[in-house]
Order: sequence, then C-alpha cells, then structure tokens
Amino acid sequence: MLRGEYYCICPACWHVFKGLDIEVDATVKSMPVHCPKCRAEAVKVLPVIRLFHDKEKNHK
Ligand SMILES: [Zn+2]
Repeated sequence: MLRGEYYCICPACWHVFKGLDIEVDATVKSMPVHCPKCRAEAVKVLPVIRLFHDKEKNHK
C-alpha cells in the first residue's frame, strides 16, 4: 500500500530524490528506497509537503 512520497537522500553519493513510501504486507515496515544513481540504500528525510492538502483543516 502506498503511504506517500518522501524526499530521500543517498548516504553514498548525496543524491537527493523523491521516493515512495510503500508498506510491506500492510505492516508498519516500509520498503527500503534505493538511490537511482548508485543503487545504494537511501534514507528518507522528509515527507513531500503538499500545501493544498490541509487547507480546509484548522488546527489550533
Ligand atoms: Zn547514490
């Protein structure tokens, strides 16, 4: 199941790219993301922020 998009950084070549956060067999575990440049296992750093997403919610 797809949970969202994340910015990922590769610890090997510092390439920053957008990766998908995908659940493994409906558990909390996520699929590891791999750098498109060097195929090393990358680290998720930040969810992709969608500015239009929370427009109607007013959290105080
Ligand atoms: Zn890399």
